Amino acid sequence: MRLISHIDAVEELLRHGIAAERREWSLGDTVMVPLGAAFEHSGTVVFSSVAWLVPNSRDAWDLVQMLSQRERRRRFSSLELAVAEALELTKLYDCMGACSACGGVEHLSFGEWCGLGQMTYWIATSCGTCGACSEADGGDSLPEELREIELRRHGTWRLTTSAEHSPRAWSAIRAELALGLPELAALKRTLPGELFRGTLAEVSRLQARLARAHVQTELHEAV
Ligand SMILES: [Zn+2]
Repeated sequence: MRLISHIDAVEELLRHGIAAERREWSLGDTVMVPLGAAFEHSGTVVFSSVAWLVPNSRDAWDLVQMLSQRERRRRFSSLELAVAEALELTKLYDCMGACSACGGVEHLSFGEWCGLGQMTYWIATSCGTCGACSEADGGDSLPEELREIELRRHGTWRLTTSAEHSPRAWSAIRAELALGLPELAALKRTLPGELFRGTLAEVSRLQARLARAHVQTELHEAV
């Protein structure tokens, strides 16, 4: 079946067990795609995260995610392709493991953010069988296995900069990236260009720290 309308997209997502809904709001006439577990909060259902299918010109549709202080928008040439990607995204929020207390199915949720040049992550588990819960957090990058999922959920981001910097700025770049002098010289030859790539929180942290030394950088999604 060819998908062309909002109704088609909602039906296709419902067929896959995703409680999608048509919503009109500031992004336009959209389809809301819930990601991850639903919680009840003061009588309303809230989802861990959501993505939006937004019609663009002609047959093209955008898949939009609201990340911390920025919008991630990816364009697809048809609604089928956009819905297929939305379904892939929902799978990335379905993280399960075995409960260490009873061996039942344990749901895992996690996230990371960056504020004022500091990164924080959190990991929470809850067992659907015995109800055992755990929570952990940290002040650096996510553990590698979860970091890989984070990159697939929210994309890989890159920080770019110019080739012209003051001596103070170069020493800040060198310190933040833990480069030796030969490595810094090699990096200089590649600029203007990329300084670093990683998760959005990792790249945002580096951008905030370099800004303190007046290093101008730009943050983009790596495509
Ligand atoms: Zn359990």
